[in-house]
Amino acid sequence: MKPFSLARPRDFAGAGKLAKDRRFRLPVIKAGGMDVVDHLKEGLIEPDLLIDVLRIDDQPEIREADGAFHIHANATLANIAASRSIARRAPVVAQCCASAATPQVRNVATAAGNLLQRPRCWYYRNSQFDCLKKGGHRCFAFDGENAYHAIFGDGPCHIVHPSNLAIGLSVCNASVRLTGSDRDAVSLADLFHMPDRGLLSEHNLKTGEVVTEIHFEPRSTSAFYAIKHKQSFDWPLVAAAAALELDGDRIESATVTAGAVAPVPWALPHVGEALVGVSLDDDTALRRACATSTRDARPMSDNEYKVRLLPVAIRRAILKAAGREVMS
Ligand SMILES: Cc1cc2nc3c(=O)[nH]c(=O)nc-3n(C[C@H](O)[C@H](O)[C@H](O)COP(=O)(O)OP(=O)(O)OC[C@H]3O[C@@H](n4cnc5c(N)ncnc54)[C@H](O)[C@@H]3O)c2cc1C
Ligand code: SF4
Repeated sequence: MKPFSLARPRDFAGAGKLAKDRRFRLPVIKAGGMDVVDHLKEGLIEPDLLIDVLRIDDQPEIREADGAFHIHANATLANIAASRSIARRAPVVAQCCASAATPQVRNVATAAGNLLQRPRCWYYRNSQFDCLKKGGHRCFAFDGENAYHAIFGDGPCHIVHPSNLAIGLSVCNASVRLTGSDRDAVSLADLFHMPDRGLLSEHNLKTGEVVTEIHFEPRSTSAFYAIKHKQSFDWPLVAAAAALELDGDRIESATVTAGAVAPVPWALPHVGEALVGVSLDDDTALRRACATSTRDARPMSDNEYKVRLLPVAIRRAILKAAGREVMS
C-alpha cells in the first residue's frame, strides 16, 4: 500500500474543500471505512489523501422535523435499525438496515457510506481483473461467472446495486443533502446512474460534493424483504421494498423497488399499478401482480434463478408490510 496523508476536517464543508483540493491526485472520503479500507487493502485505490469524516457529529443522528425523517450522514445502520420511531413510521428503512451485513458491520457502517459503497462484483473486487469498471476493455461477468449479477439493464457492466439502505429509502421519497457545490440536495432517484451513463462510478455526485444528511418521508405500511444464502450476514440474492396504502384488505396504491437485480435500485411502477385494487386475501391475484415484476428481465447464464425469486420477494414484502404471514 502506498503512503497517504490523513485529514480529519471538523465539518463536511471542510471535507468538501479537501476533496477538490488540486494539490491532491486522489483524495478519498472515509466514513466507517468498511468499504474504503477493503479497497485500500486490495490495492483497488491508491489515494494520496484520506479524508476521515467519521468524527463529524454536527447534528443528531436521527431527527424528525416537518413530517420527515432526517438522518445524519454518519448515522450507523445499527442506530437506524434500532430507532423506534423509524421502525414504527417507516419500517422499511429500519428493516433494510437491520438486514444488512452483521451486527459488527452495522455498528460501524454509516448511512452515507452504505449508499455510496462500491459494487460487489468479484471481478471488480479482484485487482487482477482489469474490467470495464476499472478502465479495461471487457466485462468478465458477461461470459464468465455471473450468478450474483444483474437481470435488468443493457450493460455494458452488469453489477447489482449493493446498498440495502438505498432500496428501503427508494419507496420513501428520499433525498440526500449535500455540501461542496452549488446544489443543496439530490433526490435518491437521481443519485445513481446506469452503466451506460458512466462506468467508473455508480453515483452522480460531483467532485467535492459530500453527503451531510438523508431525508425521507414516513411510510407506516411498508416493509423490506431479502432472500439470502445465509440470513446472518450475506448481501441479498434478491430483495424487495414495498410501501402500501390500504383500504381494509384492498391495496389502494403500492410503491415497489427491487434490489440486487440491477445496477441501480430497480423501481417497478408497473408492479405498483398491477397491485391497485388487489385484495390481500386473493393470493392468486397477488401472485399474478407480483409476476409482472420480471417481464423485462434478461438473465445471464448463471442467474436465471433470480427471475424466479423476485416475485417471491415482492409478494413477501407486501404481505410483511400489511402485517400478514409471509412464509408460504
Ligand atoms: C460481511 C459483510 C456483509 C455485508 N452485507 C451487506 C448487506 O447485506 N447490505 C448492505 O447494504 N451492505 C452490506 N455490507 C456493506 C457495508 O454495509 C458497507 O461497506 C458499509 O455500509 C459502508 O459504510 P462505511 O461507513 O463503512 O463507508 P466507507 O467505507 O467509509 O465509504 C464508502 C463509500 O462512501 C463514500 N462516503 C462515505 N461517507 C460519505 C459522505 N458523507 N459523503 C460522500 N461520500 C461518502 C466513501 O468515499 C466511499 O466511496 C456488508 C459488508 C460486509 C463486510
Ligand atoms: S459486471 Fe461490471 S464490475 Fe463486474 S466485471 Fe463486468 S464491468 Fe467489471
